[in-house]
Amino acid sequence: MSTDQRIHVTVWGEFRHEKQNPQVAALYPQGMHEAIAAPLRADAGLAVRTATLDEPEHGLSAAVLDQTDVLTWWGHLAHAEVRDEVIARVRTRVLEGMGLIVLHSAHYSKIFRALMGDTCSLKWREANDKERLWNVCPSHPIAAGLGDYFELPTEEMYGEPFGIPTPDELVFISWFTGGEVFRSGATWRRGHGRIFYFRPGHETYPTYHDQNVQRVIHNAVHWARPSVRIRDDAPNVKALESLPADPDAARRHEH
Ligand code: ZN
Repeated sequence: MSTDQRIHVTVWGEFRHEKQNPQVAALYPQGMHEAIAAPLRADAGLAVRTATLDEPEHGLSAAVLDQTDVLTWWGHLAHAEVRDEVIARVRTRVLEGMGLIVLHSAHYSKIFRALMGDTCSLKWREANDKERLWNVCPSHPIAAGLGDYFELPTEEMYGEPFGIPTPDELVFISWFTGGEVFRSGATWRRGHGRIFYFRPGHETYPTYHDQNVQRVIHNAVHWARPSVRIRDDAPNVKALESLPADPDAARRHEH
């Protein structure tokens, strides 16, 4: 048994906009994944690594996932380039108990759609809306330390209807200057794993430098940490008690 009690976090980033768009590179010179990882690294209770699309196996080898307690996922341009066998591996780990934090445009990622079993579609607009995120579940661990609401002065708008199964818990609802609302912080369980979707994080805005956004992601990592790891199995089992004789048993064995 390892004596390392830290939560092992893998921050996954697509890392394409930063190489193509100088505006994004200026906001996130080390990449968006490093901006997401940096405040997590300040917590001695977390062991944080990053992984990106263009690494072998997208940086998500079986060995990396084996050591990952919570995975965060930001993608946008290249959802289709993520290999299906890697998605299957990530999905299996979630069902075994790994936490998954799905960020912004990863609403359309293969992994989120696979786990939700729904379209995950939404309305959107890039027009410098202000976003006001209402804290609708202040007792939730993901909302710890936040006020009634917080604001991001400029963000992309996402609007309802959002094609998701009804969340187990709704933590944030966003309002935008243009008038729309959106379920911007929501949780689900899939198998033994916990999933949190968090809406803000468009690449051309400094959202991941915002302290409230950083606090939510940090809270979510702690909330999503696994309490078990249970591999999928469907065992044939012996009865705990003695059973009455089954007169049909001999006949069934003929089949
Ligand atoms: Zn966006």
